[in-house]
Amino acid sequence: MENQEKIKLGWFSFSCCEDSTIMMTEIMNDHWQDWKRIFDFRHVKVLKSHNIMDEFDVAFVEGAIAGPDQEEKVKEIRSKTKYLVAVGACAVVGLPAGQRNTFTEAQNAEIDFLITRFGALPKVLKVSDVVKVDVELPGCPMNTEMFLKAVDTLIKTLRPNS
Ligand code: SF4
Repeated sequence: MENQEKIKLGWFSFSCCEDSTIMMTEIMNDHWQDWKRIFDFRHVKVLKSHNIMDEFDVAFVEGAIAGPDQEEKVKEIRSKTKYLVAVGACAVVGLPAGQRNTFTEAQNAEIDFLITRFGALPKVLKVSDVVKVDVELPGCPMNTEMFLKAVDTLIKTLRPNS
């Protein structure tokens, strides 16, 4: 990796409980030494306060898309990254964060004022409803084995000589 640029990495959270973020930081207990040689943690708010939003090799996206601002943001992320990985069930299938999609008419009537107040979308979307997704990591929270396999594959793809 010495002669190659580090892999530019972003980690983004939308509507969700951010448990996959916690899993990722826990996994770092075992992988930090390796990953800091390989990755440029360009935009990972859980790790640092100064984050750069310019370009990424890989962007991990956690959570469902619940508002127009989130729609725009995930489109921006897509436009700046080579690979976009949807992390966890909320990102992959829109649930459980998008539970309101399954509400009855009566339940919807009770939450209507909140939808209006927060300017939320009428339906909560999974990430692939808005942008192209390259890799999906299911699980609630994400399946950590699949996450590590995906990370390895992305390293081999992006930096075959590392
Ligand atoms: S998939 Fe589960 S763990 Fe991940 S953000 Fe959604 S609710 Fe939380």
